Order: sequence, then C-alpha cells, then structure tokens
Amino acid sequence: MRFGILKELTEKRVAITPDFVKKLVAQKHEVVFEKGCGEGAALVDELFVAEGAKAADRAEVLAAADVITTIIPLPESDLDQVKKGAVLISQFQPFADDSICEKLASKGLTALSMDMIPRSTIAQAMDVLSSMASIAGYKAVLTAADHLPRYMPMLSTAAGTIRPAKMLVLGAGVAGLQAIATGRRLGAMVEAFDTRAAAKEEVMSLGAKFVEVEGASDDKAAGGYAVEQTEEYKQRQADLIFQKVSKADIVITTAQLRGRPAPLLVNEEMLKAMPQGAVLIDLAASTGGNVAFSKHREVVKTHGVTIVGNSELADEVPEHASQLFSRNVENFLKHKDFLSEEGFSFDFEEDIFGSACIVYNGEVRFGAPALTK
Ligand code: NAD
Repeated sequence: MRFGILKELTEKRVAITPDFVKKLVAQKHEVVFEKGCGEGAALVDELFVAEGAKAADRAEVLAAADVITTIIPLPESDLDQVKKGAVLISQFQPFADDSICEKLASKGLTALSMDMIPRSTIAQAMDVLSSMASIAGYKAVLTAADHLPRYMPMLSTAAGTIRPAKMLVLGAGVAGLQAIATGRRLGAMVEAFDTRAAAKEEVMSLGAKFVEVEGASDDKAAGGYAVEQTEEYKQRQADLIFQKVSKADIVITTAQLRGRPAPLLVNEEMLKAMPQGAVLIDLAASTGGNVAFSKHREVVKTHGVTIVGNSELADEVPEHASQLFSRNVENFLKHKDFLSEEGFSFDFEEDIFGSACIVYNGEVRFGAPALTK
C-alpha cells in the first residue's frame, strides 16, 4: 500500500515520523510525503528520504496515497482530491462533529478515528488522547510560568523569602495529573479537583492536595469519562472552587465531557476575586472552555488576570508529540496484524478496530453497537 504523509495545515506536528517510515518500507509499503511536512517538528525532508520515503507536492500525495494519516482531519478541499476507497487515519472526533461521518462516507472513503479507540489497558500503547493530553498538561504549566509575573518555587534569598506559587488544577485526568507533576517539580503548592472519585488517590500520590466535594455522580458505564453532575452538586462545587480560585496564582483547567460542551468551572465572579497577575490555562477552550472569556488559541487579559485558551498545547512540543502520535498509530496498525504486506484486515468484531473504524468504504459505521458500548 502507498502511505501519504501531509504537512498539517494548522500544526507543527506531523502524524508519521521517519522511524515509522522505516518500518512501513521494511513491510514492503511505499511512503510519499509532502515536502516540508516535518519541518515544524525538527524533522527535515532528508530524514524521511533516508528511510525510503519519496518527496512530493501536496496534490500528488493526496491523489496517490492509499492511506493518509493526519493529526487534524483533512479539510473538505483536500478530501475532494483523495482517491476513492482510500483509508484516512486521524482524530475525527465524531462525537463532537456529527457531520464528519456523512462527509467521509459521501466520498467513498474509509476512516479510522484514533480518538475512538477504547481507553482500555490493552489499548494504552495506541492512545493518542493520552499521549497528547500528557504533553499538554506539562506545557500548560510552562506556559503559565511564562505569563506569571512571579516565581513558582519558594526561594530564600539574601533580600528575603519568596513564597511558592499556589496552583489549582481542575480536572485530574491525564493532562491534569501531568500538570500536577510538572507544577510540583517547579516548586508550586498544588491542589486539584475532579468529579471522579478515582482521581483522589492519583492526585495524592503525586503529592498534591485533593479538593473534595461530596456527592459526585460517577458512572462506571461511561468508560472512565466524567458524567454530567446534578445542579445541587454543581453549586457546592462552585462555592468550593470560588474559595480555592480566589487564592490561586495559577489555575489549569482540563475538564471535558465527551460529545458535550465543557463545563464552566471558573466564572467572571471568580476571576474578579483572583490575585492580580494570576494566570489561567484552559485546555478545554476548543469545546467551550472551563473559564469565562477563554478563547481557543487566544490570550485574553481581563480583571487583572491572563487567560490562555488552548486545547492543542501538545503542538508546542512538536517533536515529541509527533513521535508519540506516530508510535500510537504504529501500535494500532500492528495490533492483531491489522496491517500486513497485503493491506488491512477489517475485523469489525475486534473491539479496538471496530471502535476506530467510523466509516468503511463509504458506509457510516459510527453508532454501530461495537462503537457505542
Ligand atoms: P478528559 O480529557 O475527558 O477529562 C479531563 C478530566 O476532567 C477528567 O479526569 C474528568 O473526570 C474531569 N472532569 C470532567 N468534568 C469535570 C468537572 N465538572 N469538574 C472537575 N473535573 C471534571 O479525561 P482523560 O484525561 O482523557 O481521561 C478520561 C478517563 O480515561 C480517565 O478516567 C482516565 O483515567 C481514563 N484513562 C484510561 C486509560 C487506560 O487505562 N488506557 C488511559 C487514559 C485515560
């Protein structure tokens, strides 16, 4: 099969790195790449060529490839140039965009959505959501440090003692836990909150304090994802968060609800109560945001605080983000020999493949029983 690698239109990352090219070529596949596709991630064209890939223009890659892997789904204008029957691998987020499946099906394509792979132990090595969230959590703390007009660690100097920064993490999933670990390494005093009971132990194991609100709804059937909370719970949560936010120098928010707008956790009143110069990093900005006024990929200054909205912070560590994304795809294709020299084996009964394949040969599969359990 002929694999295509494209330059991402909005990202520095690239979906397939040269080490994966080497393995594809060893498996007798061909690889064509758009010139400059890896430049943003410090992966120059020569590295792809050295592993056996051929350089081409974007239009040539789109027209020639049997399989195209991207981090962000291709825009409509590119889809029109892809050959019928091609396999696209990306993060299509069909829960968030209900038109995407129809669009891909109407072009006669097959779509494998990496974000639809179950968050199970066996699938950890192919979990792009975790790979990217972990980097985003790390970078969120560094971005906060950049904007903060203060030190993070406690420092005893000849001129006096500097107190450590107070950091609050709202949402202690993959990104939140990495933010806690990074904040602790930089010397901040860290507190964290999550609606999932399981998060408490993880937060405490990283040396942070868990902010507890009694009575959260947890649903084992939600596959580890958080569920919508009752109005009463939300009020209690808001009161406690108000107290914590009003003392925080840094707030990092990561709370997402799959297929729904992100919950608003920090409202305008809370922003007004924060110390001047405080920084908020909102990783949920692209799905509505956890912080009032936050905008995806924008820095907003209001009420004396800085709000950085960015749900793609992994792109700010492009080399390692590319490497991990590429390995996740490689592990996915290796699983049960989905990909062999002959091509793909489409086994919809297999949980991981059945979940990822949202469109098959022009037919929408998203919503099929294997995908919804
Ligand atoms: P996510 O990005 O969907 O959400 C981030 C965090 O925000 C979650 O911890 C969620 O509970 C929390 N949250 C949602 N609403 C909130 C609210 N109103 N207030 C406070 N916090 C709120 O989550 P994620 O990081 O992608 O992880 C999702 C789940 O999958 C977690 O349970 C995680 O442990 C699990 N997981 C499992 C594996 C595995 O076993 N392979 C791998 C990765 C993640």
